[in-house]
Amino acid sequence: MIVILLGAPGSGKGTQSERLTDALDLVHISSGDLFRDHLGRGTPLGELARSYMDAGALVPDEVTIGMIADRLDQPDVHGKGRVLFDGFPRTVAQADALDALLSEIGAGSVGAAVFIDVSEATVVERMAGRGRSDDNPDAIRTRLAAFRRDTEPVIAFYRAQGKLVAVDGEGTVDDVFERIMGGLLACE
Ligand code: AMP
Repeated sequence: MIVILLGAPGSGKGTQSERLTDALDLVHISSGDLFRDHLGRGTPLGELARSYMDAGALVPDEVTIGMIADRLDQPDVHGKGRVLFDGFPRTVAQADALDALLSEIGAGSVGAAVFIDVSEATVVERMAGRGRSDDNPDAIRTRLAAFRRDTEPVIAFYRAQGKLVAVDGEGTVDDVFERIMGGLLACE
């Protein structure tokens, strides 16, 4: 099972990803976590990503896709096809690349793309409480703009394939989790 989690920054993707990977026995691949790991280790990829991340802008597709391709090559994923992608793909080019990568490694295809739908007011409120370095007002604005411009078309991409599971992201973590599980069951 390959599941994608989509949502604006602050929509609760990270929290829900952890619950879902436990419940469904999936490997969690978060592009944001992978970038932060590179940053922390001071790798060349981390250095390259830093300025984009600080500004709240998307890291260029070829860099992001290369990083995901490396992750998919690792033995916990390769050929197994049980993954939850969190924060990737964020552009249609990344979504196309993901389809190609999954078929290359014999991991099947994307089963469902879950979109956690929250209002802009909720997003701003949730991000204000996180205290991450890219959660300052300018970077937040840039990230929301990137979501609208680059990631909303990804939602349309999966909707057109009949794979989109859109859930209301307002309410408690438990409420949203139940909605997602219900949506995934209904689309199986
Ligand atoms: P996140 O933790 O998912 O909010 O990601 C933090 C930052 O990492 C983003 O603001 C981007 O700068 C970068 N990033 C994460 N995932 C991607 C992606 N799929 N494509 C481009 N940049 C990304």
